[in-house]
Amino acid sequence: MASIGTLIDSGRVVLRRQINDLLDFVYPPVCGLCGRPADSDDRLVCRSCWNLLTTIEEPFCLNCREFIQTGTVCRNCDENPLTVFSLGVYDDTLRSIIHDLKFSFLKPLGTTIGTQLSETIRDRWQHLKLDMIVPVPLHDSRLYARGFNQAEVIAREIARTLRIPCRPDVLAMTRRTRQQARLTAPQREINVRGAYAVTAPEAVQGKSILIVDDITTTGATLREITRVLKNTGAGRVAAAVAATVV
Ligand SMILES: [Zn+2]
Ligand SMILES: [Zn+2]
Repeated sequence: MASIGTLIDSGRVVLRRQINDLLDFVYPPVCGLCGRPADSDDRLVCRSCWNLLTTIEEPFCLNCREFIQTGTVCRNCDENPLTVFSLGVYDDTLRSIIHDLKFSFLKPLGTTIGTQLSETIRDRWQHLKLDMIVPVPLHDSRLYARGFNQAEVIAREIARTLRIPCRPDVLAMTRRTRQQARLTAPQREINVRGAYAVTAPEAVQGKSILIVDDITTTGATLREITRVLKNTGAGRVAAAVAATVV
């Protein structure tokens, strides 16, 4: 026999569902970009706005920016090639999406980005034999101000879709850096140097790792994190980003 507690609980569930239905009726989920009805609650950008993205279908080399047609390693570069998967080019559409993800606390946008990125990675990830997904960490002060790390939202969705562990705990930002956007390419390299540390060295030993971030411009952050991971004994390292500045 159901207890009074469970009856009340189930009553609450029904009530909550009715309120949600009512809210959907009054405020149907709308596209974050154009304001037209969105496809669903967890996909906050409509199909026609997604179609505006300049998508990047193939992984590319962070060094020479050439697409990697076969396999997963750049054949042009002997030194420090890093394979990058990117959802698209950082144009107005992706800029709006990433801005909303960061500043309007619209986590479902991050999930949508992660799902789409997984599709790009899926074709090649078996070659990479990925062991773990690691989001680029935020400094504690910035994490505190924002409440969440947008790279981690994307990383968690990729990890869930590809069934690979997400390990935000293996890496930390140890020093607050200046905003990369205001710096020249050489300044960016200096700005991030020594700003990241591996916090669980035994966990990365010999492992194949995918680093995840929202945007890459010159690649300074991804290169620095790759350097730190490899110095700690990581195996293969690749990266996935929502947007690439070209
Ligand atoms: Zn739209
Ligand atoms: Zn290359």
